[in-house]
Amino acid sequence: MTSNEKTKGYEVIITGAGPVGLTLANLLGHRGVRTLVLEKKPHPTRWTTRCFP
Ligand SMILES: Cc1cc2nc3c(=O)[nH]c(=O)nc-3n(C[C@H](O)[C@H](O)[C@H](O)COP(=O)(O)OP(=O)(O)OC[C@H]3O[C@@H](n4cnc5c(N)ncnc54)[C@H](O)[C@@H]3O)c2cc1C
Repeated sequence: MTSNEKTKGYEVIITGAGPVGLTLANLLGHRGVRTLVLEKKPHPTRWTTRCFP
């Protein structure tokens, strides 16, 4: 499958499933916008990656 076929049908493509990308995807989803989130990491992180003790 080509990258064009994978993204076909989505109105918005968000690069990065960080807090900003996921918040935007959530907001767009509530408005019925077909959204695809692309994340380069294979798994979600369990904890926030940038939190100081
Ligand atoms: C050193 C440091 C300490 C911080 N400490 C705190 C804190 O204690 N508390 C706090 O609230 N905030 C903290 N922040 C701020 C917080 O980390 C950021 O505001 C927040 O993570 C930004 O979210 P983001 O979604 O923009 O980016 P990120 O969280 O960086 O998410 C970006 C995502 O995009 C993915 N990505 C990147 N390039 C690509 C690509 N080409 N293709 C696919 N996916 C890609 C990455 O893998 C990542 O998952 C800190 C920031 C820094 C730098």
